Amino acid sequence: MPDSKPEVPLSTALDLTLDGPALTAALVDFPSVSGTEKPLADAIEQALRTLPHLTVDRHGNNVVARTRLGRAERVVLAGHIDTVPIADNVPSRLDEDGVLWGCGTSDMKSGVAVQLRIAATVPEPNRDLTFVFYDNEEVAAHLNGLGHVATAHPDWLAGDFAILLEPSDGQVEGGCQGTLRVSLTLRGERAHSARSWMGSNAVHAAAPVLARLASYEPRRPVIDGLEYHEGLNAVGITGGVATNVIPDECTVVVNFRYAPDRTPEEAEKHVREVFADCGVDEFVVDDHSGGALPGLAHPAAAAFMEAVGGTAHPKFGWTDVARFSALGVPAVNYGPGNPIFAHKRDEHVVVDRITHCERRLYDWLTA
Ligand SMILES: [Zn+2]
Repeated sequence: MPDSKPEVPLSTALDLTLDGPALTAALVDFPSVSGTEKPLADAIEQALRTLPHLTVDRHGNNVVARTRLGRAERVVLAGHIDTVPIADNVPSRLDEDGVLWGCGTSDMKSGVAVQLRIAATVPEPNRDLTFVFYDNEEVAAHLNGLGHVATAHPDWLAGDFAILLEPSDGQVEGGCQGTLRVSLTLRGERAHSARSWMGSNAVHAAAPVLARLASYEPRRPVIDGLEYHEGLNAVGITGGVATNVIPDECTVVVNFRYAPDRTPEEAEKHVREVFADCGVDEFVVDDHSGGALPGLAHPAAAAFMEAVGGTAHPKFGWTDVARFSALGVPAVNYGPGNPIFAHKRDEHVVVDRITHCERRLYDWLTA
């Protein structure tokens, strides 16, 4: 019997002289499912420490490298190094059509490869650069490495403009919408359903809440030229005790996705107002993450938009750009992967996109 070989070849070092597509393949072949990023963080730290123009810091499995050239502006290039669980799609495979297949090719080791390439090939950028590589983006928010760095060392993330190289299909996605989840509870009084007039039905009491949701007209505000689209929706409803009991409690769970021109406080106030006269007995905020303004009016962002061309698109889902926004740093998503294929068994990236993204950033930072 031959020795059983590990399914996945484990490398221990990263070669930053590889081109973007080859470096992406090397990163995909270096598994780093959320919670197991340490070997990859070690390799990234080691590779960056060989570059004399960068100062390298580390917090847990998060690596931050910075130039200190005293430039007028500082740009942050950030990306998460973890992936979702592998689905028989490692090691990577490059096909004859120039498509690289494998876990993390799109989300977002191609973006991380571009970060590393820029770190290695632009020793004298026209703007100071900060490279952030962080762990645990694909799991619960409290584990997110970017959040940990923002709390422990906010100065490491300081900058005039940040780019997250998340898959955006080569388009610039500005800002992101906020998300608020609340539980609206209505109360009644239990009774035997044979004598329902002795009680008060809490499920029926939810009718005004549902009517208000069904007729709600969401705003579509335009901010920095981007049109956002809000939404207020029931995402769950619970109530009922037994099939012969008038229910004494009903809870409607509501999710409000809101444009970044509202602060979290304003968003909550708005939702309270929407349901103010609907007989709600209890209003509980379950979860709340503020949005992020696109910040495309900032000179560094405007210069970036001009360099990469095309038009920016709003981001409807919540992303880590909001963490930068909370630190006062306008941020966008711009990466070579296609988000449609993220987290899929057939995840892949067109390698020309990686080269293209790297070239655009290189030209902008060396012009
Ligand atoms: Zn991602």
